[in-house]
Parts: sequence; structure tokens; C-alpha cells
Amino acid sequence: MTAHTAEPGRARLLVPQLGAASSPPHLVKGHRSSCSVPFREHPGRSGTSQITSRYPARHAIIATVSRAYGYVGPPELLERASPDTVGERVASPADLKRWLAGRDAAERDEPFTYVVDLDGTLRVAPRRSEHVACAGGQSVLAAGEVTFHGTRVGEISNQSTGYCPDAASWPDVAAALDRAGLDRPDGFTAVFVFRHCPGCGELNVVKDDDYVCVFCAGALRRS
Ligand SMILES: [Zn+2]
Repeated sequence: MTAHTAEPGRARLLVPQLGAASSPPHLVKGHRSSCSVPFREHPGRSGTSQITSRYPARHAIIATVSRAYGYVGPPELLERASPDTVGERVASPADLKRWLAGRDAAERDEPFTYVVDLDGTLRVAPRRSEHVACAGGQSVLAAGEVTFHGTRVGEISNQSTGYCPDAASWPDVAAALDRAGLDRPDGFTAVFVFRHCPGCGELNVVKDDDYVCVFCAGALRRS
């Protein structure tokens, strides 16, 4: 009788099948897939999150969650970042070759700064460039240091004290490298664990599974 009963089956089809129904879809952890397309929400017709059917089936799976990391470093570095400081976009081996050709030999052997921007694109900058500058002041999907052998990735890490990305950012790194057509390892060659101390607020790089603040000896979050 009412218009609302017209599409009950369709409405059910659009509801995400979440294990933890209490968590918003974009916060559900541990359900990554190889697909790197960031989760997209349809604004929703009834106020709830709905997977839009405009995307191909493999992209519509709720499991494709990418976490964005906001900048957490010194404010003065953020103030200096702008669209003018953004790193070189690498979307193909030719892009990387061209950029590397502009570096001197000594620099090519050292790790470069990289970020994966919110579009999933790899951006690189000379060593010691701030990650926040490379990202143009924006949030990122991943950040760290990388070395190249030709257009093959040698070493790659999540070392960025500006964004403190965790090891779970790897799938976004892998997807960006794959999209750029660059050979890569199967994971980070060095993984860093960053924790801000809840007591003193200082940033710690956790070593040897020792989750104690080196500044105030307070306990650090384990997960
Ligand atoms: Zn502390």
C-alpha cells in the first residue's frame, strides 16, 4: 500500500554484510583485499551506509578498506607544505626513469621519500624531503622511504615520523607500485612501529617489542 514497501528486496541487497555491525564500514579493520580502490560510500537513501551498485562487483565488496593517515608531525613543517611542494607523480616506469635521470648518481643510491596519496598514486621526492611536503600537506594512504634499482623497488619501508603509517599500509603501497608498473618486493623490507605516548605525548619508534616510552617510561599502546 505504501511506496516504502516497493523495493524491500533491493534494499536488503544494498546493505553491507558486516561482521561487526556496530562499526562504521570505513573503520572495520582486518578485511583488506588486493583491491586498492578506497571504500566509497553512497550518501544513502535512508541515512545508512550503502554500497553503490555503480561500481564493478569486485570494487563493491566492503572489504576494500584503505586507511588515510593524517599528518601528526611538527606544525611548522605542515605550514611549509603546499601544492607547490608535492612530490613527483609516478604512474609508469617511464615517469620514474625520467625523474631518476634528473637526480645525481650519489642521490640515486640513497633512499627517496615517498607517499601514496589519497588517489592511490605514488609520489616521490629527494631524500630528506619531508613527507608532508611530498604530500602537499594532505593526508596519505602510505608513506616511507624507498630505493630503486633501475625501475625495480629495492628497499621500501613505512618510515615516516610525520604520518606514522603502520605495517597495514602495505597493500596500498603494493597497489600504487603495481599501478605504476614497477617490480616490487612482497612486503616492506623494513617495518617501523610508531607510538605516541599517551602520558607525555612524545613519538616513540618501538624496538624489540618494547612498548615502553623512552621519554617518560610510560606504557605504550600495543595494538
Ligand atoms: Zn612518554
